[in-house]
Amino acid sequence: MNKTFKSFSEKIFKCNKCDRLVNFRNQVSRKKRKSFKNQTYWNKPVSGFGDYKAKIILVGLAPAAHGATRTGRVFTGDKSANFLFKCLFKAGLCNQSNSDHINDGLKLYNTFITLALRCVPPHDKPKSDELKNCSKFFKQELNMINNKKVIVALGKIAFDTCIKFYKKNFNITGTFKFEHGKSYEINDIIIIGCYHPSPRNVNTKKIDIPKMVNVFKIAKKISAN
Ligand code: SF4
Repeated sequence: MNKTFKSFSEKIFKCNKCDRLVNFRNQVSRKKRKSFKNQTYWNKPVSGFGDYKAKIILVGLAPAAHGATRTGRVFTGDKSANFLFKCLFKAGLCNQSNSDHINDGLKLYNTFITLALRCVPPHDKPKSDELKNCSKFFKQELNMINNKKVIVALGKIAFDTCIKFYKKNFNITGTFKFEHGKSYEINDIIIIGCYHPSPRNVNTKKIDIPKMVNVFKIAKKISAN
């Protein structure tokens, strides 16, 4: 990890700004899931992961309670991660189809993954003030990925977070609606909506592997232009 990202990540790890989320994070990490009872949970906010020179950025909602809140790496160690990495691997954007723990050898190709919110919210439902508190990290991180050309927003909250970022920081106006596969060009960046790889979306077949791989292949093509 380069120095700038290291010190930025360390700043994120120390953040305790949102009382409700800090309490929930502590509660999840203390109680643990039965199958992980012998593990020590990360129990800190989660930073972005991947290639800092990437042209493709993926934006998720927040760390999962027993995924990244436990392992300390975004989309790692839960069902959403299993699905996401199967798709990223099929699209040729990473070196392996699994993301289990921080020492599993995972490498992303030309891709960086980050989050709208760095701490797990109860029932995966963040409050607007919590998203606002965390937006400073989103802004700083996005600004550090200088080569970005395309953003894939995983779910409506991630999509709205990206739109807010561009509206606020680049004086963009207009209406932008989240739809799977729909893309917008904003300030030289293409933002593509994509259903989140959550177990609920996968089980109800809202998203499946071909649909998600297709979005990643489009992102890859845009990044090559
Ligand atoms: S959600 Fe973001 S702003 Fe809130 S405590 Fe976590 S890192 Fe800090």
